[in-house]
Amino acid sequence: MAAKYLSIQEAMDKGSGKVSVRGWVHRERGSNKLKFVSLRDSTNVIQCVLKREDFEKQWEDIDHLQVETSLLINGEIKKDERAPTGYEIRVIEFKVVGKSENYPITKDHSPEFLADNRHLWLRSRRMISILKIRSTVFGAIHEYFRNEGFYEYHSPIFQSVQCEGGSTLFEVPYFGKRKEVFLGQTWQLYAEPAIFALEKIYTISPSFRAEKSKTSRHLTEYWHAEMEVAWADFKEIMDYGEGLIKFVVQKVLEKNKEELKLLERDLKKLEPIVKKPFIRMTYDEALKILKDKCKMPVTWGKDLRTIEEEKLTKLYDVPLIVSHYPKVVKAFYMTEDPKNPDVVQGCDFLAPEGYGEIIGGSHREPELEEIKKRLKEQGEDPKEYEFYLDTRRYGSVPHGGFGLGVERIITWICGLDNIKDSIPFPRTMERYRP
Ligand code: ATP
Ligand code: MG
Repeated sequence: MAAKYLSIQEAMDKGSGKVSVRGWVHRERGSNKLKFVSLRDSTNVIQCVLKREDFEKQWEDIDHLQVETSLLINGEIKKDERAPTGYEIRVIEFKVVGKSENYPITKDHSPEFLADNRHLWLRSRRMISILKIRSTVFGAIHEYFRNEGFYEYHSPIFQSVQCEGGSTLFEVPYFGKRKEVFLGQTWQLYAEPAIFALEKIYTISPSFRAEKSKTSRHLTEYWHAEMEVAWADFKEIMDYGEGLIKFVVQKVLEKNKEELKLLERDLKKLEPIVKKPFIRMTYDEALKILKDKCKMPVTWGKDLRTIEEEKLTKLYDVPLIVSHYPKVVKAFYMTEDPKNPDVVQGCDFLAPEGYGEIIGGSHREPELEEIKKRLKEQGEDPKEYEFYLDTRRYGSVPHGGFGLGVERIITWICGLDNIKDSIPFPRTMERYRP
């Protein structure tokens, strides 16, 4: 067989003449004279036709070719309007590399079956499209922060303090120790010490949360893009969040039109994100709109529920940045608003179309004693946080940051019903296999 293989896309771009390609049998059908094999690789799918007159001796093998067999193919490519992707290869020579018999995934399986066979379902055109968009999203996050002069920095995954509330902490039996080591829920307490060294830092790393409620937006292991900036005020933090989301959506629109089409995503829903400024409002303003326009009164001091966020975001075609939440509903490290000590300089970015929170961010409380007080109120022992409290002892500066749930943004960009499809092997309370 010829040595120089083209990807299926490259072969289609060439459009005519002899080509060698390799991949997996995506579908097959035929009669006793002709066999049609649609061959898939990471780039595309192409119809290959084998004629019995050319392969009299091998016909039995060809007749038995099954889905997901891996193949090398040598043949002649030409345009063909009737072929599903517009081109056809008439096969001259072929070789089976790896057999596949009775591939378990056929048609119309339950979500449960597909989850059990996730390792195989990854090969579906739907998952391939999502995984390509996922790759673009990760690349774009790195590119955005690096363009803005950030350093990539890494926090530990084994952590000895909690940051986002004890109820979602995963404890690790670290050499037999109990209640001392946890999987990171966020990088934050280990990132703040590093702004004194690098000033502008970011990461993309797994975060772990023991989410006990079943929702379509919570995983127990998710990828968390986080940033922290020295000297920044609260508005700058929100500006970076808006800049990042715009950049990510723009990159996906540039690179993944085909994949979005396969996922039947309406591009008109994504285009405004790049072009229009996001809507910014305070929690108080959000309550007023909920009451007046949505007929959903919320008592001041209550966090917004999913249903309220959904109603609110459906009023706009761009993300909504809600800021200045009541202190009681937000984390211990957020700065009080200088004009109103009952609210904090914290914000949530809510995606349009009811996709919910994609970013949580804040300006960080600078006062040592205030932080200690709030830790105690949460039942924490400030002694455990000594290393963190040093950030407020030695040359403290105003700073802030945010965390973006990478699967949340992928779910929204792809228009998926559930966050589980945005990651290769989703982890939830019930699902940790395969
Ligand atoms: P939620 O209210 O949706 O549980 P949160 O307030 O707990 O979110 P943060 O602690 O602010 O979230 O975390 C930062 C970001 O991480 C969120 O804006 C979201 O995009 C993402 N995120 C949080 N929890 C999860 C999870 N369990 N699975 C996937 N992404 C998550
Ligand atoms: Mg949460």
